[in-house]
Amino acid sequence: MGKTAKKKIILAGKRGFCSGVKNALFLVEKVLAEAAEEDTEKRICVLHEIVHNDAIVNSLRKKGIIFIDEPEEAVNASTLIFSAHGVSPDVEKRSEKVCKNIVDATCPIVKKLHKTAEDFEKRNLSILLLGKRGHRETEGIAGRVEGKVTILQDENEVKSFLASLSSEEKKKTPFGCLSQTTMSAGLVKKMKELLAEKLANLEIAADVCYATKERQDAVKFLAQKCDMVFVAGSEKSSNSRRLVEIVKDCGKMSFLVPDPEKFVFPDLSKCETVGITSGASAPEYHVETLVKRLLDTDEFYLMENTEE
Ligand code: SF4
Repeated sequence: MGKTAKKKIILAGKRGFCSGVKNALFLVEKVLAEAAEEDTEKRICVLHEIVHNDAIVNSLRKKGIIFIDEPEEAVNASTLIFSAHGVSPDVEKRSEKVCKNIVDATCPIVKKLHKTAEDFEKRNLSILLLGKRGHRETEGIAGRVEGKVTILQDENEVKSFLASLSSEEKKKTPFGCLSQTTMSAGLVKKMKELLAEKLANLEIAADVCYATKERQDAVKFLAQKCDMVFVAGSEKSSNSRRLVEIVKDCGKMSFLVPDPEKFVFPDLSKCETVGITSGASAPEYHVETLVKRLLDTDEFYLMENTEE
């Protein structure tokens, strides 16, 4: 710490890798270690980015992992690994046709959502999925059922959907509601309230996952104490972008930092306290790099206790 340092850096108490990401990375490293032990050239493929973080994906590429977009690209692969976001049964079947050795790194919490969607369908519930269209996890969940899944992305879409229903449908149709694990907990709560207000027969299962909620609560707390909050995380990472949005909703400035080495800090002259957190797929060394760069200015010191 520089002698004149007066400005504080506070770290979020809950940040970084969640259990699902840790599990997925552990499985990939295990496959790599087994291949190295056998000492033969292996083609190891991962379907989609294992987690949404460029630094991690690039470092695995350097170790020989091949990232693919479609199962058919895994021809001649010794192992095909599914990412933490999960896949649909159609993708599972196509994968089994091209590769005998499949390692499923789908997060157990996402798998539970798959089962709930299947259960809703068996019970003839109309499925509502609160999530982002086109996200791997949402596609994987929607793909678990044969019938229609209505994806609702925000409060406006919920309102339009409700307006499209007749009063008879609102009264009688049984609905089952699920949410993508990395949505904003606050937004999901509002969307569910809107649905529950109008739909007489609505079953709500599972919320955003515990890790997402913990990180969102921690950043909200951090935002109250800081002038500005930096979020280490990739543009592709839903949960990281959400952390930035939460800080902005609290009326504070926030920046997503995909690459902490190259990140150009905004003007910090008016900041007394800055906060740092990271998305569930961002490695801790990205937080450390940001801290080091701020400490190197001799204007900041790091608070010893992190904040919940
Ligand atoms: S954010 Fe939650 S659901 Fe997604 S991988 Fe992490 S623990 Fe699993």
